[in-house]
Amino acid sequence: MDRDAFRQFGYRFVDWVVDYFDRLDEFPVKSLVSPGDIRRRLPESPPLRAEPMERIFRDFEEIVLPGMTHWQHPLWFAYFPANNSPPSILAELLTAGMGAQCMVWQTSPAAAELEEVVMEWLQKMLRLPEGMVGVIQDTASTATLVALLSAREKTTGFQTNIKGMKGRLTAYASEETHSSIEKGVKIAGYGIENLRHILTDENFAMIPEKLEEAIVEDKSKGLRPACVVATVGTTSSTAVDPLDPIGKICERHGVWLHVDAAFSGTAAILPEKRWMIDGIERVDSFVFNPHKWMLTNFDCSAYFVKDPETLVRTFEIHPEYLKTGVDAEVKNFRDWGIQLGRRFRALKLWFVLRSYGVEGLQKMVREHIRMAEMFKGWVENHGQFEIMAPVTVSLVCFRLNDGRSEEELNELNKIFLGKLNQTGKLLLTHTTLRGKYVLRLAVAARLTEERHVQEAWGMIKSTAEDLLKKE
Ligand SMILES: *Cc1c(COP(=O)(O)O)cnc(C)c1O
Repeated sequence: MDRDAFRQFGYRFVDWVVDYFDRLDEFPVKSLVSPGDIRRRLPESPPLRAEPMERIFRDFEEIVLPGMTHWQHPLWFAYFPANNSPPSILAELLTAGMGAQCMVWQTSPAAAELEEVVMEWLQKMLRLPEGMVGVIQDTASTATLVALLSAREKTTGFQTNIKGMKGRLTAYASEETHSSIEKGVKIAGYGIENLRHILTDENFAMIPEKLEEAIVEDKSKGLRPACVVATVGTTSSTAVDPLDPIGKICERHGVWLHVDAAFSGTAAILPEKRWMIDGIERVDSFVFNPHKWMLTNFDCSAYFVKDPETLVRTFEIHPEYLKTGVDAEVKNFRDWGIQLGRRFRALKLWFVLRSYGVEGLQKMVREHIRMAEMFKGWVENHGQFEIMAPVTVSLVCFRLNDGRSEEELNELNKIFLGKLNQTGKLLLTHTTLRGKYVLRLAVAARLTEERHVQEAWGMIKSTAEDLLKKE
């Protein structure tokens, strides 16, 4: 590709993205293709000869686009969002242009120092304790694995790295914890049999007394409790595990406390939601995802630790070919996690924080919470729906309930969700809470406005009426 073509297509693609945001409602939110549909349209072997960008782009529009699910759609209410934003996209373009590796300070000094600065900004925005230090990881899953590994090393006096696992370490999380904790426990060598799922209360939050019982029992059996993972904003219902009492228990028993706040952590930038991380000064590590609810393109996960020494001791390496003269004066982020090569992720976050300002981000989060509360009110005031969990931020868990048996309700709600999503006009996902099939409506996409939530409610009501009439 010559430089003129690069320039020409560069301009065209920016136009394409701008128009894409404008015409998102022309697409079904969830791709309607069947397994194999896209593959069948792609050649089996790579082209021998160079192809013009015009043709590649045409295939992108004709083959790839129909197979995309549109995460930036204003009627995106599924899972949690993966928001992007114009400043973040532009920063990603610059990052791609420079194509830098940010493994040590010297390989990109500005990347290393900007990462320190934006992490300090986030720390101030969430009012995390002084002394907590941040590093950007790719995902919350990775950050949690890093925490489990740090906890493992701290508990075993940094000997597992040297000798391999001896004895049994145990980890603890609520029964509502994210699947990434199980994955981390497997990879970090604890073994899934040594992960305890702690009972939750009526709000789906971990019961601290049950945690302490489990730790005491494991200790009495000669096992070594190493890590508790508390969740601030569970994936099913955004339940908030109480950090203060959990933190006290961890201090009493010398157990690492990690907090997974992947989605809900962003809400802590609001004074009125800061309570969710009360007790954070007792926490050893904390992660939340700017790539979910802070307008920063995937991937960008903010990981904070109380004691960076432990983190670095767990991960540091000293190969000759990576030694530099300034290692004692600077942060080499290769030693702060699993990867050696690292993307320049701080740039997009910096662009976002500056373009929106703290107030702009607070305004967005508040507005999402307001719309979720509004939706909750509509659901509560409708005779045939039911709210299934407290709305702590902007996720509403609800179901259709016309009084039939639990088993039949599960079946009914599954059909109901299928019919809703089949319209292609909106997308919700589901979960189960205590065995009950529940619809989740997460109001957190950048482009979602009140009229979109109203539109969704209209479709939810009419689909429910049709379904109940037919039966
Ligand atoms: C989304 C989510 C995760 C996983 O985040 P990734 O960054 O995709 O790894 C983990 N925990 C919770 C509570 C989540 O909501």
